[in-house]
Amino acid sequence: MAGKHIKRNLRACREQSSTHCRRNSGTHRYHSPWSALPHKKPEEEKTDKKIWRKQIWLLGGNKVTSYSHSRLGTFQQCRYKYKLQYIDKVKVDVPTTIEAFMGALVHKILEKLYKDLQFQKLNTKEELLNFFENEWEKTWDDNILIVKKDYTKDNYKEMGKKFISDYYDHYKPFNSWRTIGLETEDKLPLDNGNQYHIRIDRLACDSNSTYYVCDYKTNNKLKAQEELDEDRQLAMYSLWVKNNFKDCKTVKLVWYFLAFDKEMVSERSKEQLKQLKIETEQIIKEIESCVEFPTNVTALCDWCVYKQMCPSWKHEYELKEKTPEEFKDDDGVKMVNEYAEIDTKEKKLKARKEELKNQLIVFAEQKGVDAIFGTEKKVSVKPYLKVTIPEDKAGFIELLKEKGVYDEVSMISYPRLNSMILKKQIDPEVIEKTKTEKDYRISLSKKKAKGKNKNVSLGFEQKLWQRQIN
Ligand code: SF4
Repeated sequence: MAGKHIKRNLRACREQSSTHCRRNSGTHRYHSPWSALPHKKPEEEKTDKKIWRKQIWLLGGNKVTSYSHSRLGTFQQCRYKYKLQYIDKVKVDVPTTIEAFMGALVHKILEKLYKDLQFQKLNTKEELLNFFENEWEKTWDDNILIVKKDYTKDNYKEMGKKFISDYYDHYKPFNSWRTIGLETEDKLPLDNGNQYHIRIDRLACDSNSTYYVCDYKTNNKLKAQEELDEDRQLAMYSLWVKNNFKDCKTVKLVWYFLAFDKEMVSERSKEQLKQLKIETEQIIKEIESCVEFPTNVTALCDWCVYKQMCPSWKHEYELKEKTPEEFKDDDGVKMVNEYAEIDTKEKKLKARKEELKNQLIVFAEQKGVDAIFGTEKKVSVKPYLKVTIPEDKAGFIELLKEKGVYDEVSMISYPRLNSMILKKQIDPEVIEKTKTEKDYRISLSKKKAKGKNKNVSLGFEQKLWQRQIN
């Protein structure tokens, strides 16, 4: 499959670059936890790492898990998706989009540019563009998906060339910073014994000990500065830089939005990084104690590779396979249609009931009566005095406590208690006294999920799909 092909290429290219950085350049001096391993071929080193991890585990140490930006983002977006991807490790064929294909190739060319520069070889722009053309033809696969039918393979190829050409003209002769690592991969140790996966497109530094974490963006979406100032991915990388390069005074996070020939920079203070690390470790703690993995239907589901097997969408996919007659005859469709019809009627009836209540009150007041008679039934309209509590609820509760009546008038908050019991945030003795059993909530909504969870970062395949709609 084309997707596997791309992934293999990327992986091979990262491995090549990281091997180069660690062994050949002599400039990349970070202390990998694996740096004590004997000098071996990459495949042997990988096996050694696995054995090493297993030994740590067998010796009674905690199992080390590597968390990445997209792994955390997936958990925050949808726990069910997280379970499929990272716990059950369900494999699905992700189609390679032309945007992803072009993006990977542009990354590869920029990697070549800086890698060759480390060997004092400055490629001309034409050489890089030729390399891009050749690689494009060599690795092109007719299964690559072009979703936007108004554009052709050649349009995307020209886009990629324009990105490289603009970047070249903008930054030539590429000597403002010194490259330390390309497609750098490593693990940042976290306080809870886990690790955070690091992968930097280009890491560079200048003579003032300022380090630059560079990230190339090939999609047609320019981010706002506020969004970049809150970005977790590169900010976590800056923690790794500070850990590994003791001379580091400042870390600048640099995004190159190649479609706009625009560079955007963000920086984090020591306090912000400390807070970010705490927040990241908290999310990991939540992941590791999580026992419930419900689906979370949002607009992001449209980019989820598990949508077809997701319980929140599976029935819709089954229906897509049916003829119009079979569709109408589907038990689920029939029940939902009837349920929706009843729901609409119920809402209309409720609204009419409220209207009638008000009319009955007016009628009773005008007639000076408190009972109104119909054919079979009568309605009583009795006035009563309604008490409204002050808006400052907390203060009012304090007052009730002070006056010794709170216990008498307060009620248990069942939703809060439910949540505390399920999350085990309450004394076990309380949990023991309760019974937890499966029940269902039935709710009716429009078929299409609305709204987007802005706080959630997209995983790889979502980014990949998003590129095609940008
Ligand atoms: S389709 Fe939506 S709800 Fe289902 S697993 Fe994917 S993200 Fe979660």
